[in-house]
Amino acid sequence: MKILEYLENYDYEQLVICQDRTSGLKAIICIHDTTLGPALGGTRMWNYASEEEAILDALRLARGMTYKNAAAGLNLGGGKTVIIGDSRTQKSEELFRAFGRYVQSLNGRYITAEDVGTTVRDMDWVHLETEFVTGASSSGASGDPSPMTARGVWRGMKAAAKEAFGDDSLRGKTIAIQGLGHVGYCLAKHLHEEGAKLIVTDIHEDAIKHLINEMEAVVVRPEEIFGVEADIYAPCAMGAVINDETIPQFKFKVIAGAANNVLQEERHGDKLHDLGILYAPDYVINSGGVINVADELEGYDYQRALQKVEMVYDNVAKVLQIAKQMNIPTYKAADRMAEQRIERLGQIRSNYLRK
Ligand code: NAD
Repeated sequence: MKILEYLENYDYEQLVICQDRTSGLKAIICIHDTTLGPALGGTRMWNYASEEEAILDALRLARGMTYKNAAAGLNLGGGKTVIIGDSRTQKSEELFRAFGRYVQSLNGRYITAEDVGTTVRDMDWVHLETEFVTGASSSGASGDPSPMTARGVWRGMKAAAKEAFGDDSLRGKTIAIQGLGHVGYCLAKHLHEEGAKLIVTDIHEDAIKHLINEMEAVVVRPEEIFGVEADIYAPCAMGAVINDETIPQFKFKVIAGAANNVLQEERHGDKLHDLGILYAPDYVINSGGVINVADELEGYDYQRALQKVEMVYDNVAKVLQIAKQMNIPTYKAADRMAEQRIERLGQIRSNYLRK
């Protein structure tokens, strides 16, 4: 892998490779772009098959955070960490504290948080060594971001419904939710309270059992969700669910959910555009969690965070507007909105200011 060439192609700022023999830490911190502010992005712990795979994942995820933070209107850049290791067997206090010291050494250029394979307890260990961490349990921290992510998805879904159906009410709409984990379940509650009809699925039966009574949801098998008769599809499980096999099954008018990287390839976003299926881009509609975590940097205030998460409605609406005006797929419109914000704000910052 030609790392420097890759960094240059996508204009990355910094790649930090961290090693600590005593704790066994092997981590890669990637800072993609800090035009808007310090890079914020979580720490993923994963048993990567190779170092190259880990580096590529850090690079890809960090760049994704630049777009997500910019599109969410946050004054934060994009960064991410991957720790190479098994999150079930290789965690220790010394490993996360060793990692925390590397984060501290970046002196605020990068702020970390939880991601796949890491928890609040791990961030508490990181917090012992650095102030540049969010999502720890200390006072002023914001806790589990999932309810805020779900709230943002619900708000974004309403904006998408307004565009597709001319009305943002979800009452009476049929919504297919794939995955009833932390986010999917909270989303189902919002939708049920608003009077939507739910079709749900999960690979774990436990996750759905109580929903049948509680929310009168229709339950289908995981592989059936793509072809159900519903107005809106809310992917809230894993990525790459919009692909050559699933698209021909879709009867949905709108796709709006929490899962990351739902388009298997960009061309699948083009296909949705051609078919007239309105897709609310994943990183715009699922930004409630990062908006919530970012509020910690100002001293966490739940009500203020909630107000900011409500704005996901406006962000989704803005992206859909750009897509309509330019007649481009919505995923492209989201990228454009993020890139333009970085470009515009990058320029005003070059003005001389007396310190
Ligand atoms: P989670 O692990 O709590 O829930 C995922 C659920 O999906 C689980 O119940 C799992 O059993 C189910 N699932 C997995 N594969 C499935 C399949 N093939 N069919 C049906 N169900 C399946 O995760 P979460 O925190 O709720 O996150 C859901 C998605 O949203 C993920 O893609 C995540 O990256 C994304 N996301 C989450 C947050 C957050 O704040 N938690 C923020 C942004 C994005």
